Amino acid sequence: MQKGEGLTRRDFLAAGAAMATLAISAEKTLADDEEGTGPVVISTWPHGVAANEAAGKILSEGGSALDAVEKGVNVCELDPAVSSVGLGGYPNEAGVVQLDASIMDGETRACGAVAALERVATPVSVARRVMEKTRHVLLVGAGALEFARAEGFEERELLTEESRRAWEAWKASREKKEGDPHDTIGMVAIDSRGRMAGACTTSGLPWKMPGRVGDSPIVGAGLYVDGKAGGAAATGVGEEVIRVAGSFLVVERMRAGDHPQAAVEAALARIVENSGTRHQVAFVALDRAGRIGAASIKPGFTYAVWRGGKVELLVGKVI
Ligand code: ASP
Repeated sequence: MQKGEGLTRRDFLAAGAAMATLAISAEKTLADDEEGTGPVVISTWPHGVAANEAAGKILSEGGSALDAVEKGVNVCELDPAVSSVGLGGYPNEAGVVQLDASIMDGETRACGAVAALERVATPVSVARRVMEKTRHVLLVGAGALEFARAEGFEERELLTEESRRAWEAWKASREKKEGDPHDTIGMVAIDSRGRMAGACTTSGLPWKMPGRVGDSPIVGAGLYVDGKAGGAAATGVGEEVIRVAGSFLVVERMRAGDHPQAAVEAALARIVENSGTRHQVAFVALDRAGRIGAASIKPGFTYAVWRGGKVELLVGKVI
């Protein structure tokens, strides 16, 4: 990893809203380890900064890790300027926004998820209701929407002027290749009582096939949290993450004694070995001691860490 690699002007701009408390550490790939120093939040990409701020506020006030991760990623879901999550997320090849999300409580290993959910901007909150109000873990498509409606979620058009224009430009170019992976938010937190939780939410790969489901709502792939070991979340080409049960693999390595950084690097190495190519995938991880890990296969990955009331945006180590 070359120092400073991958932190683009766009990253700085995206992080701008949170500049007041933000220290961008373009020279640093790892946050300082401060074990047992209270609540911590880690999440993917520059929009993780605003999400971590919201999550951190909840944790500072004594709130639970579960509330923190849900409300934290809601910030990105509801921000139309984030083109990879929730409202304003890029649509599938038919021009329809289909969202994937999951949430997991590390204390109980309870989890909930939705996939290919249309017309609801906060799929992670629907996922939480699946976890808390049904005997199931994953609802998809029309059934997920019906459940969200019954739970009183507001329906709206998720395609914005900007995302429609991007989709039209893609169609006009007649490029049949899949879009690049883009900026799912995955978040893991530990609260002041040492409880852990995680959430993951995305509009998935842009211009994906209708009905395509990525790693983000697949518990064990895009997200896994076990408070006895730690939690991990993924971003990047979801198919590659699913093939190795990526987040579960990271958590199991931590359970076996790996530092979170070693765990994420091992899981990425497994993905490279497994696929024989180097698609972009990145993980963030947090162990029960509050230590963090983050890395990616290709350059360009950034992640946000909130600890002690401050957020840092860091550059992921490239394996
Ligand atoms: N992992 C997401 C998916 O495959 C996309 C991303 O994070 O860029 O749906």
